[in-house]
Amino acid sequence: MGHVQGLRCRECSRSFPAAALHVCDFCFGPLEVAYDYAAVAASVSRESIAAGPPTIWRYGAMLPVAHDDAVDLGAGFTPLVRADRLASALGLGELWVKDDTRNPTGSFKDRVVSVALTKSRELGFKVAACASTGNLANSVAAHAARAAMDSYVFVPANLERVKIQTTAVFGGNLIAVDGNYDDVNRLCAELASEHPDWAFVNVNVRPYYSEGSKTLAFEVAEQLGWEVPDHVVVPIASGSQLTKIHKGFHELTAVGLVEGGDSVRISGAQAEGCSPVATAFAEGSDIVRPVRPDTIAKSLAIGNPADGWYALQVARSTGGAIGSVTDAEIVEGIRLLARTEGIFAETAGGVTIATLAKLAASGVVRSDERVVAYVTGTGLKTVEALGDDVGPSAVIPPTLEAFAAVVEKGTTR
Ligand SMILES: *Cc1c(COP(=O)(O)O)cnc(C)c1O
Ligand SMILES: [Zn+2]
Repeated sequence: MGHVQGLRCRECSRSFPAAALHVCDFCFGPLEVAYDYAAVAASVSRESIAAGPPTIWRYGAMLPVAHDDAVDLGAGFTPLVRADRLASALGLGELWVKDDTRNPTGSFKDRVVSVALTKSRELGFKVAACASTGNLANSVAAHAARAAMDSYVFVPANLERVKIQTTAVFGGNLIAVDGNYDDVNRLCAELASEHPDWAFVNVNVRPYYSEGSKTLAFEVAEQLGWEVPDHVVVPIASGSQLTKIHKGFHELTAVGLVEGGDSVRISGAQAEGCSPVATAFAEGSDIVRPVRPDTIAKSLAIGNPADGWYALQVARSTGGAIGSVTDAEIVEGIRLLARTEGIFAETAGGVTIATLAKLAASGVVRSDERVVAYVTGTGLKTVEALGDDVGPSAVIPPTLEAFAAVVEKGTTR
């Protein structure tokens, strides 16, 4: 953590040591990691990064931990895929998909958890904990197993069955809570003060956790040959990922690795059934009013988003927008991405692609822009969201005649 100056309050700018702290004593504002950018600039180059491992740890100099002993399952450096077929379906020009379905536990959460648990171990914690909408549960349980830490993972009881099983298999403590994510989160805030010896990745070590999302900006710039895109579309749950992608593009410019990082337009995507930030954006309001989530996009179902206000400011100040889409549009987004690009995303990816389609249709995302859509989780964990519309084209007895009859009729697509 050579280049970390400490933690800084995002509201009043007071400084704190780089400990397990997350709120400011003076104003209750959230804390964020501050770096000595001159020192970072002196220690990294495009070449030194290229010589690093094909994971988030190639950007270790810009992360808040000592990375020679990382809790690492290989998160990051996922493909950036040129998406020409999707672009033409949406009337766009240069479109790229950041395929974060291809992480160790199938979502971008592996980036943030790898950083959070590395820092937690460095701070001496033996127990990792979290409140999760699903993907965080998978990732914390897996990384804790890898790090030989105990884990306590709290999830809403109505989570997709696969996300329960694919968390439980890693052997930590998995507690299903009768309530929605916001209830789970409130319980965890109480537990965090009762168990100061637990590292709650999205509570007391949240400032470190959230830094992991900057790698989504770092990788895109490196994969575009050290250039930044014009416009990116990012899904919003708590809003942390979106604000840190913004910070990531800023830092790349601050340390001299790219030009123009501060002019990337950043748009957000939410499900209509949980769209407090999109609603505030549409109303031109500064107040993100909490909602009770009701959507198939469970990984994004945070009704009271901790970083919602900051995400709103980022979208406004960069010239982006925040859109929302219905559950039916989410499913169509998943299917459109799958049939045009061969990428199977979860509901959050459906939210991103469907919102991109809307923003393209309304002219917010333009065909003369270089656009990146962040697809943040794999579809294999949310297959139930697809319903009965996705199935065999035909069911036949094992005879040539039966198949010929199907061909005659044409397939169901
Ligand atoms: C958690 C999650 C997000 C958004 O995370 P925030 O940083 O809380 O906004 C996006 N996509 C997927 C698949 C997630 O699991
Ligand atoms: Zn403060």
